[in-house]
Amino acid sequence: MEVTINNIRKEFERFPALNDVSLKIGSGELIALLGPSGSGKTTLLRLIAGLDFPTAGQIFFGAEDASHHSVQERNVGFVFQHYALFRHMTVAENIGFGLKVRPSSSRPPKTEIRKRVSNLLDMVQLGGLEKRYPNQLSGGQRQRVALARAMAIEPRILLLDEPFGALDAKVRKELRRWLREFHDRTGHTTVFVTHDQEEALELADRVVVMSQGKIEQVGSADDVYDRPGSPFVFSFIGESSQLPVEVKDGTVLFQGQPIGISETGDGAGELFFRPEDVNLIDTQDALFGKVTASRRLAGTRIAEIDIANNGHPPYHVEVEVPLHAPVELGSEVRFRPTRWKIFRK
Ligand code: ATP
Repeated sequence: MEVTINNIRKEFERFPALNDVSLKIGSGELIALLGPSGSGKTTLLRLIAGLDFPTAGQIFFGAEDASHHSVQERNVGFVFQHYALFRHMTVAENIGFGLKVRPSSSRPPKTEIRKRVSNLLDMVQLGGLEKRYPNQLSGGQRQRVALARAMAIEPRILLLDEPFGALDAKVRKELRRWLREFHDRTGHTTVFVTHDQEEALELADRVVVMSQGKIEQVGSADDVYDRPGSPFVFSFIGESSQLPVEVKDGTVLFQGQPIGISETGDGAGELFFRPEDVNLIDTQDALFGKVTASRRLAGTRIAEIDIANNGHPPYHVEVEVPLHAPVELGSEVRFRPTRWKIFRK
């Protein structure tokens, strides 16, 4: 099911939690809504679910304007962070619940419900555990029951709000991989909210980066990491450093001095680069500063460098260097970004 969100605005007592948000979600896509706390991710998910309604704008499910349809009419499945399984029901009863409470006209017969529950149990790899109660399951298993329960009603769309938020890192990683496979197998249009960028980048077909009630950028993991479209996205995704620069006659100047990189279009701007996109270099036209700390990062080393700022607090940057590079504490190093982006003021 394709979902089209057109110019959505959502106000809470006049405070705009979402402001002019538009997004097209393709049928069968796995989409992550990623952003800092308060950026509007959950609000957008709730509007898609029909748990809340927009102040302005429309939401289409396929060609149908679903903006004012109820949750039931939309037929969406959702899973929230605190997997609220029914404690007094077995795994099988939890999964079958959504079907059992349907009005008799649309309720499948008992044998059909049992069959569907059994298929779902296999799908979430919990066959054999149907008689257990939630407190007899691990966190990851409970989360998979929650997903099976959401799927039982054969939803048109699956909406997940921080589905793995309450789990430890290792289980999160396993469930992440599992969700990707599950999605590929079932082909449901899925939207999930996370503030964990690793989760979003690893799992999603496309990542929607949100900030202050707006969409900053929509793209693949490569798009948002390698080609961030705004200073916010550059600093929010991955690690980065930034310095104020000036472009003059095609040369990039920092504190009035050339740093050995060129750019078209003159004027002031903010230079962004990632730690891994830097080379140590021994020439005059480079950035330079003093090493204040260094730490090992798997097979390489991260050096923290302070760049003097005419009596003001120094600029702090981080660069990734070979493990045995000469970056002793207090020593001066010279370096140049090999990939960068300058955002104009
Ligand atoms: P988090 O990662 O912390 O869950 P989020 O990106 O999901 O954050 P939302 O929960 O969508 O953010 O909230 C967006 C903004 O709207 C916040 O400033 C929040 O305080 C506000 N907000 C959300 N729900 C309500 C509400 N029911 N009444 C008033 N303000 C609300």
